[in-house]
Amino acid sequence: MDRIASPKKTKETIAKHNFHFSKSLGQNFLIDQNIITKIIDGAEIGPEENVIEIGPGIGSLTQELTERAKKVVAIEIDKSLIPILKETLQDRDNVEVINDDILKVDLNRLIREKFDNGAVTVIGNLPYYITTPIIMKCLEEKVPIKAIVIMIQKEVADRMKAKPSTKDYGALSVAVQYYCDVENIVNVPPSVFIPQPKVDSSVIRLIVLKEPRVKVISEEIFFGIVKDSFGKRRKTLLNSLSSGGLNLSKDMVRAVFSACGIDEKRRGETLSLQEFAILANEIAKKRQ
Ligand code: SAM
Repeated sequence: MDRIASPKKTKETIAKHNFHFSKSLGQNFLIDQNIITKIIDGAEIGPEENVIEIGPGIGSLTQELTERAKKVVAIEIDKSLIPILKETLQDRDNVEVINDDILKVDLNRLIREKFDNGAVTVIGNLPYYITTPIIMKCLEEKVPIKAIVIMIQKEVADRMKAKPSTKDYGALSVAVQYYCDVENIVNVPPSVFIPQPKVDSSVIRLIVLKEPRVKVISEEIFFGIVKDSFGKRRKTLLNSLSSGGLNLSKDMVRAVFSACGIDEKRRGETLSLQEFAILANEIAKKRQ
């Protein structure tokens, strides 16, 4: 079937199937072929690439993906989109559509069964409220994923890329940068969607590192410190860490800071990933 990523084709397809948009599923469909080309160029999808697409909608990105990738598995939660996808993807034999909630899918099993355990690129233009849980699911479950290319609210993309001592730097920046390099692919205005969202979006590419960026003895302690340090932004690290979830005494925190040569009066948002790792490893050693 012809490309559906145009206002006319998208409207015709939706009308033909009497489809109704669901706000709660974050349904805004891309209608601009140029943006789609930019996204897939930026994702570096070549003929050997295996792709999992999350939330194909009516198949605007999926059509292009099937022409560039080796194989695409698209997971769509909305049952009423399945017959539409059957039509828009009818003449393509390297795509499989699965009607499921991505948060409930066992990704390791899916990759084993559908891609023979080869590394995949995950692509999605998703409702904003499930973007972070999905990214963290992909990264924390240690799934064989090369990269995650995702369209998100521009502010969230800025937080993922942020460096220490900037207003956007926080627990999300540290978590994403622990596992990935972050690249901006393209900024996307509301006008390229039907219906138009209220916010600007960005497409970013998270390239998963072979090993996390810093070596830590315990990820639980590392992420525990990160969470406590950003929990109360105005507090000094001494106060945040001694009143946080890790249950550390003030004396212990002082001893750790002194051993690491980090000033206890600093605030969490000034610490680099390396400094968080040094602190976490010192705490882990003291707990052993
Ligand atoms: N990729 C299409 C496009 O760019 O035109 C559609 C994007 S639309 C913003 C988001 C899509 O994700 C919708 O089709 C929606 O039904 C689907 N979706 C929402 N939550 C989902 C979930 N938990 N699992 C799988 N798909 C989901």
